[in-house]
Amino acid sequence: MKVTVVGYWGAYPAAGSATSGYLFEKDGFTMLVDCGSGVLSRLQQFIKVTDLDAVVLSHYHHDHIADIGPLQYASLVQNTLHETKRVLPIYGHNQDEEQFDKLTHHYTKGIEYNPDETLQVGPFTIEFQKTQHPVVCYGMKITDGVHTVTYTADTSYFEGWSDFTEGSDLLITDTNFYRGMDGAKAGHMTSEEAGKIAQKASVQTLWLSHLPHFGQLTRLRQEAEDEFHGNIELAEEGLSWNG
Ligand SMILES: [Zn+2]
Ligand SMILES: [Zn+2]
Repeated sequence: MKVTVVGYWGAYPAAGSATSGYLFEKDGFTMLVDCGSGVLSRLQQFIKVTDLDAVVLSHYHHDHIADIGPLQYASLVQNTLHETKRVLPIYGHNQDEEQFDKLTHHYTKGIEYNPDETLQVGPFTIEFQKTQHPVVCYGMKITDGVHTVTYTADTSYFEGWSDFTEGSDLLITDTNFYRGMDGAKAGHMTSEEAGKIAQKASVQTLWLSHLPHFGQLTRLRQEAEDEFHGNIELAEEGLSWNG
């Protein structure tokens, strides 16, 4: 599978970029995980909107769903122009009914996932991990049967993360704070905590993402390096992993 960073900022996008959005591709199937602010624009550098086969959402904070509305308009416009009736499935949890109901539109269909069960989306099998965050949020462990990628979504640190991540090749973490800061109050992690999970779970590669709008971002990487001895990348648009 191929994983590409479409957006990587926490909270809001810096100029010309996007908040959370990760593109998963395998054998021509394309799945977008989270669809934050700016994602629809940046996504089109990699694929056509009409090539998207599925969307999976971790939670309903703006920086993860802001572009769902524009994506629904894009589906409507493209289906109308091409006289097609292609419905895009958008998977989300149903523990916030008002938000879940908004996933269904003319050519998108909200589909509830059960976080206690594995979800099959095209060639991908997804396991969920409830995170510690101010709203209900699920991290994901995504495998194509050969390789495995874990995405923490938004969460503060807790012990269970390394067990859940075990067996993953790539780990994408919420790294919204620097070492020594208290990320837990806001429901996010620090560079040090991200590195700790990667080291305990023995992943090959760690991507630090959901980045903050303050401080020197390269410091996040140095701080994670003190904990994790594998390959570390600071997320940036277009960063990709082939496994
Ligand atoms: Zn977020
Ligand atoms: Zn959030």
